[in-house]
Amino acid sequence: MSVAYGENGGRLYDAVFLDVDGTLLWTDLDVEGYVEDLAPYTRNGDLTVERAWGPVWKRKSLHRHIEENIEHRTEEDLAGFRRRNAGITASALGIDAPVEVLTEMAERRISFNPYPESEMVMEELLAMGCRLYVVSNWDLLLGDVLEDLGWMDYFGAVVASAVVGIEKPDCGIYEEALRISGSPKHRTVMVGNDPVTDIRGAASCGIDAVMIDRKGNDQAHEAKATLPDLNALPSLVRG
Ligand SMILES: [Mg+2]
Repeated sequence: MSVAYGENGGRLYDAVFLDVDGTLLWTDLDVEGYVEDLAPYTRNGDLTVERAWGPVWKRKSLHRHIEENIEHRTEEDLAGFRRRNAGITASALGIDAPVEVLTEMAERRISFNPYPESEMVMEELLAMGCRLYVVSNWDLLLGDVLEDLGWMDYFGAVVASAVVGIEKPDCGIYEEALRISGSPKHRTVMVGNDPVTDIRGAASCGIDAVMIDRKGNDQAHEAKATLPDLNALPSLVRG
């Protein structure tokens, strides 16, 4: 579709950089299912959801993964890290099971859930002639997650921190995304849910940023706009 009015079809932006977790989808761990899977392997009796979830899985295992995945930049290295992490988690929970079993269980019980409007909004942006790029702090396997969702065709490229070796809010990851997209800063908008990594990071790099604040409790003064979800994004991009 080509539109006759003005340069770039009258749009405000040509390239839309998108964060993933909390922006396009939410990540969920089925803790009850996970505890059920682990039950046969417990050494010291009762493994409860309360014991597995807060103290061990969320604050230790997931935290360790988020903090350290950037250091593991080949698939083999990442797989080794995941096995070690699963082993540490298991011993903290008093579980005696092969690490392969543990990693497989954790992976099976994690799900990536698109927000209801995500696909429709991405399709609308593409129909307007925008190009979409993922800019995410994620491990090497982000491409697999997006592929499983059938989303890879939406994106011109996927820029994951573990692949480029730089994490948001560092300007370097935004510069890399600009280079890959070929889009000038003033024609680019970053969309994300984190006031620091997404909003302050992009703004400090000279890129306009739009905050997605689904819970209505975050403040991001550097944001050009704050939206409760992605629905109004196309009209904002249209200008
Ligand atoms: Mg996020």
